[in-house]
Amino acid sequence: MSGRLSGRGVVVTGVGSGLGRALATEFAAEGAKVLGCDVNDEAGAETMKDIGAYRHTDVSREAEVEALVVDAVERFGRLDVMVNNAAIQVEEQLTETTEEQLDRVLAVNLKGPFFGCKYAVRAMLDSGSGSIVNIASIAAILGNFDGVLAAYGAAKGGVMALTKTIAVRYGRDGIRCNSVCPGDILTPMVEAYFAAAEDPAALRAQAEKEYPLGRLAQPQEIARTALFLASDDACFVTGHDLVADGGLLAVAY
Ligand code: NAD
Repeated sequence: MSGRLSGRGVVVTGVGSGLGRALATEFAAEGAKVLGCDVNDEAGAETMKDIGAYRHTDVSREAEVEALVVDAVERFGRLDVMVNNAAIQVEEQLTETTEEQLDRVLAVNLKGPFFGCKYAVRAMLDSGSGSIVNIASIAAILGNFDGVLAAYGAAKGGVMALTKTIAVRYGRDGIRCNSVCPGDILTPMVEAYFAAAEDPAALRAQAEKEYPLGRLAQPQEIARTALFLASDDACFVTGHDLVADGGLLAVAY
């Protein structure tokens, strides 16, 4: 099979739903050998059934992420691409966010990608090259209008900082590291966000209206953006936060 990731060994975290499912599917369709992970084993295994392999991994647990990367290297001979996608979203105002909520969001959304990068870089140093794509969010660049993504946005900001540190430190070792900053994607995460609002339909309509493209993203559209960064088409792109937001950041008022 030929494709933009033909024969590449890829790990995608959080493949049981939404963007992770689309990432695994799109990358496999481009010829990648994909190892997907999730904590929801039924959903994760379902995604990977015909397109690759599945392994249970809680990305907030370092030993599990290390074992995931070791598994990938054993299966594929090397790790070419690591996509740190798994995350959770807790909707809470800053003033009401508990320490427990903050710890959980930071554990999955910041420690998870940190561990993913740590073990991916080790594997990529062994093989001499690789590409890491971290899924961040425009919530790290903009304050969201209803103010309930304080912890989430803080974690995603950390992911973007981590991306740059890796790009600068390991560029000469043949390792690229970039992030994707999506706007709203039509996944269970964002559906849950709308559902938790006082008036879900109004919040959704307001969100769609804010976007110059007049709509929210499909998961495949963001997966194709990550695919660009992962592939050789982006061979001179590193340390970049690629915003895929339907034009939202271009709006002045
Ligand atoms: P989702 O909730 O639909 O899917 C997330 C997946 O991650 C689920 O399968 C879940 O089981 C898994 N997961 C959760 N905790 C995990 C853990 N500890 N270890 C392993 N897997 C775990 O979310 P999504 O919308 O597909 O989001 C995917 C990525 O895109 C996330 O990084 C999210 O922050 C980012 N993002 C989403 C949106 C959006 O509008 N949906 C916008 C910007 C960024």
